[in-house]
Amino acid sequence: MIIVLTGAPGAGKGTQAELLAEKCHYRKVSTGDSLRKHVKEKTKIGQDAAVYMDAGNLVPDDVLFEILLHEIGTKKDEKIILDGYPRNVDQAKTLSDKLAGTHAVVRAIHLDVNKDQLTKRLSGRRTCQDCGASYHIEANPPSSEGVCDRCGGQVIRRSDDSPDKVANRLDVYENKTKPVLDFYKDRGLFVKVDGAGSTQEVFNRLKNELAAACGG
Ligand code: AMP
Repeated sequence: MIIVLTGAPGAGKGTQAELLAEKCHYRKVSTGDSLRKHVKEKTKIGQDAAVYMDAGNLVPDDVLFEILLHEIGTKKDEKIILDGYPRNVDQAKTLSDKLAGTHAVVRAIHLDVNKDQLTKRLSGRRTCQDCGASYHIEANPPSSEGVCDRCGGQVIRRSDDSPDKVANRLDVYENKTKPVLDFYKDRGLFVKVDGAGSTQEVFNRLKNELAAACGG
């Protein structure tokens, strides 16, 4: 079964998906992380995708489907938390048409954060280029500047977190990803969770939503 975690860039999907994986035994699948790995390893997919990612645009759907199939795998009866997919209605249809037999979407959770907050979070966000851990220069800086607490890797600003790219990513979200919310509303799978506040506050709300799966 798949829980889709959706929301604008900066809504905290990656951080919350990680917590759900750690504390509630979901397997986290993040298309953004997979793409960044391809870019880092300079695979063909990575080289083609980098142009789109650097501009804050969506990578073509066929590439994403290939990545999705690879990451989801064939193991049934797994609890997967899906971060970053679907990003448009065609991807949502692909997910339900092609994977429902083995991996049905049972819920789509929208982490809801207002645009001012998103801009603040993204402009101060820093990311470990080795393990992907996420920091914020004010709210959650690494203990030693530029060094990841978790793996010792270098903490940098993602190229697509620069102010000009952030504006485009928020537009892409409004125009292409937001309609996905209606797709799941129409199917009775949609839940909205307030994404404002601390990481722990948001996680507690998510845990309440997924109470049975997360030990109450
Ligand atoms: P994220 O880390 O989820 O913000 O993703 C970073 C970038 O990867 C996005 O801005 C897109 O360029 C690309 N990306 C990630 N997931 C998808 C997807 N499902 N469809 C298209 N592009 C994606």
